[in-house]
Amino acid sequence: MEFPSKLIGNAVEEFSRLPGIGKKTALRLTLHLLKLPVEDVQHFGLAITTLREKIQYCKTCFNISDDEICSICANKSRKQDLVCIVESMRDVLAIENTQNYNGVYHVLGGVISPLEGIGPEKLKIDALFERIKTTEINEIIMALSPTMEGDTTVFYITKKLNESPNDIKITTLARGVAFGGELQYVDEVTLSRALVMRRPYESSI
Ligand SMILES: [Zn+2]
Repeated sequence: MEFPSKLIGNAVEEFSRLPGIGKKTALRLTLHLLKLPVEDVQHFGLAITTLREKIQYCKTCFNISDDEICSICANKSRKQDLVCIVESMRDVLAIENTQNYNGVYHVLGGVISPLEGIGPEKLKIDALFERIKTTEINEIIMALSPTMEGDTTVFYITKKLNESPNDIKITTLARGVAFGGELQYVDEVTLSRALVMRRPYESSI
């Protein structure tokens, strides 16, 4: 696509680098911005640059956070001894949306996938064991997607947990009829039920 203005061309180019945005949509968004007051566009730009510059990962659970410790970890009314292990922050959002969980999280940042060259050392698994050493944890809920990679990761963590003496109860989400895909795509009711009906890990395999 050729544009009479290099400025428009640049904006279209940047928008079209976003997932799911083709050149046509990028042009529509660019032209939309041109119709807005300058201040609105400045706000928009600032929100994006500030997001990228200021966002950080919680030092405890590795969820995305505005501060060193995220609002979930800092919330004293949440059960700090109940830790839900998830793959990504999108799973945290999905579980938070059920409004049925009052513990904290540990975000692994992925799952073990030998095919993609992701070993345990690339995930926040060591950090999880550090956390276990320094914090009193009574229950760990394995809330990873029921895929081969998710199962491998749960198996790896459980094995490592069982190698050291501790009283931590390990549970997994109940697998409902509709719960066969990735966690973040499961509807709230099903996910909520899977959480409430969680079961000891050993008896689920
Ligand atoms: Zn946190």
